[in-house]
Amino acid sequence: MKKRILVTGGAGFLGSNLCEKLLNLGHEVICLDNFFTGKKENILHLTDRPYFEVIRHDVTMPYFIEVDEIYNLACPASPIQYQFNAIKTIKTSVMGSINMLGLAKRIHAKILQASTSEVYGDPEVHPQKEDYWGHVNPIGFRSCYDEGKRCAESLFFSYHRQNNVKIKVLRIFNTYGPRMDQDDGRVISNFIVQALNNKDISIYGDGSQTRSFCYVDEMVEGMIRFMDSKDELTGPMNMGNPVEFTIHELAETVIRLTDSKSKLVFKPLPDDDPLQRQPDISMAKNELNWEPKITLEDGLLKTIEYFKSIINLGI
Ligand code: NAD
Ligand code: UDP
Repeated sequence: MKKRILVTGGAGFLGSNLCEKLLNLGHEVICLDNFFTGKKENILHLTDRPYFEVIRHDVTMPYFIEVDEIYNLACPASPIQYQFNAIKTIKTSVMGSINMLGLAKRIHAKILQASTSEVYGDPEVHPQKEDYWGHVNPIGFRSCYDEGKRCAESLFFSYHRQNNVKIKVLRIFNTYGPRMDQDDGRVISNFIVQALNNKDISIYGDGSQTRSFCYVDEMVEGMIRFMDSKDELTGPMNMGNPVEFTIHELAETVIRLTDSKSKLVFKPLPDDDPLQRQPDISMAKNELNWEPKITLEDGLLKTIEYFKSIINLGI
């Protein structure tokens, strides 16, 4: 059935990949974005499609539209970008959620929140399961993002309990792939761009901290499966690739795959940088039959091709 779907943050990395997939499935898609970290280039190739609309709007302000589903992705996601204006980041998560939940309540739409593994902070249990409450510094530099997203989760469950809003709370773990912003400071984009330019690879700390990386196509597929699942399945649900790598291993792999002459340089570890992170995805496996299959090497090769193409275009 053709649905009308609102994607906030639709011009960003994940949002633009999601908009494209939803259009390909035959839906009508409205992409709402204030272009803080998103780019027109991410969605230019979609703008001549008749069932695609773009709206410049900030989610901290109310917005009204009639849709069947809302994917609420608006929020800067990279540490550099979300710390650039910490107050605005909190407002985007909290007021953005209030506005979108209010809309969902009024028009009886289903709403999915792009929450994050950051709600677990620097976790004391490993791997992280959905019933772990987290270990977050409430006043640290990352707290504008972590606590904003935690408050958003609280709002989602309150609207669900009090107003019967149909919610889906998805805790996304590190995701990468084409249309990542090359300047947003995230580890995969940094390492690939540095390697392609034969510049030093910047490892923060000694590189022993771990992350697990999910390729974007698989994340988008999981998001849609979750949205389409039975109403009782509210989450919170982890989604990500459970295969864990150290940042040092990632750097070596990127150098090898790009055939780069780059050297590793070690820089100070940012405050509150989580030491390890790995999702327990048994809920997504059992409930959605979802599990990542694309290996880090295969996903990196596709992402390297993308960065080569935009570096050549000078974007
Ligand atoms: P991104 O920065 O590429 O995309 C975010 C989008 O939201 C951008 O297009 C930006 O312009 C828009 N935006 C920001 N503030 C806004 C506002 N006030 N009003 C309207 N639009 C606004 O980041 P992404 O990686 O695509 O992340 C998308 C969502 O997924 C975010 O909510 C993020 O927290 C979440 N997430 C992403 C990851 C990841 O690894 N990529 C991991 C966990 C959670
Ligand atoms: N990182 C790094 N070099 C970089 C960028 C990031 O070593 O140029 C590290 C960072 O300190 C963190 C990990 O890579 O331990 C992942 O960082 P990212 O900003 O991509 O995401 P997050 O910390 O939110 O998982």
